[in-house]
Amino acid sequence: MEPIQVTKSSMPDIQEYMEEIKDLWDSQWLTNNGVKHKKLEGQLSKYLDAEKASLFTNGHLALEYTIEAFNLTGEVITTPFTFASTTNAIIRNGLKPVFCDINPYDYTISTDSIERLITDQTTAIVPVHVYGNICDVDEIERIAKKYNLKVIYDAAHAFGVTVNGMGVANCGDASMFSFHATKVFNTIEGGAIITKNEELVKKLNILKNHGITGPESVEYAGGNAKMNEFQAAMGICNLRNIDGDIQKRKAVVDRYFERLGNVNGIRLCKPRLGVESNYAYFPVVFDGFRFSRDEVFERLKTKNIYSRKYFYPLTNSFEYHGDKYDINKTPVAKDIAERVLTLPLYADLDLKDVDKICDIILNSDNTECDAILALSREE
Ligand SMILES: *Cc1c(COP(=O)(O)O)cnc(C)c1O
Repeated sequence: MEPIQVTKSSMPDIQEYMEEIKDLWDSQWLTNNGVKHKKLEGQLSKYLDAEKASLFTNGHLALEYTIEAFNLTGEVITTPFTFASTTNAIIRNGLKPVFCDINPYDYTISTDSIERLITDQTTAIVPVHVYGNICDVDEIERIAKKYNLKVIYDAAHAFGVTVNGMGVANCGDASMFSFHATKVFNTIEGGAIITKNEELVKKLNILKNHGITGPESVEYAGGNAKMNEFQAAMGICNLRNIDGDIQKRKAVVDRYFERLGNVNGIRLCKPRLGVESNYAYFPVVFDGFRFSRDEVFERLKTKNIYSRKYFYPLTNSFEYHGDKYDINKTPVAKDIAERVLTLPLYADLDLKDVDKICDIILNSDNTECDAILALSREE
């Protein structure tokens, strides 16, 4: 049987892409705010219901440069239940991440715990719309206003998600989206900052191009994080197909809910009221189920099905911290990280394969799995 990976990149028809990149051979303009770049920037602002966008070569650098652009100092409150990038972007700016626990319902930052972590050193909050689950944005805004903090959302998972009909990109001071190959919408590698702050976009556009402000002037020690024309062309094509892709993802998620929704010991998360999901991930928490998370992971693997322990380990347990952080101070994140598995989910995943995956998880006397696992233990 063909292996089933946890994700598979959406790609346009090859002819469609060829057609889109053809004129690059006429202009021979490959990067630096070219025609495709401008077109995609405009289309994305519209799609994401946003005012200003700045495109980047990847999501991580978009976040790193945004933190830099705000001239933050001291401490930044964030969550450890995320991809390495969120925490690394804070640290690479010379700032101290202060880890806040998550809530046990949708794994976003626990707004009840934020205020007690604020000190006179705190300058920002970097929450994560993890799995495309939207944070309690109203409460975060209230706290940020009260203590005069910047809010930069890691919205890497939240492409196209709306809350009460409004694009989620409009929350906070800025939102970072990732267009990495594994995300709902991809430009191969890529990312963007969405914000209402025109000054921020101006500064980012300079910072991501070496700090250059004119033919003979460099005002910042910037870097290079520009999106090139081939990435932008991929984005233009993928954006044409995005609504169909999200509908196909929804069909997969609906089937998972049908099969796993009412099983003792399996916890799924539903979007908050008013949230229109993008069906980016399908996280399953095993709590009191017949098998542990690790057992389910191994069982699927014996059948060539690859799920992911996403997010494990927590970012506050990374080796490079030494013993600066204690994961017991974020007990909910610690518990979920040990129990959660994200199951395969992508637009082209066959519903028959979803059934197969659910059968393996639910079937208690899967003797074939047991035999293979026993053998691998002996080896
Ligand atoms: C993918 C991702 C990023 C980084 O995006 P890249 O485009 O891969 O650099 C940041 N945060 C989270 C939560 C992500 O999943």
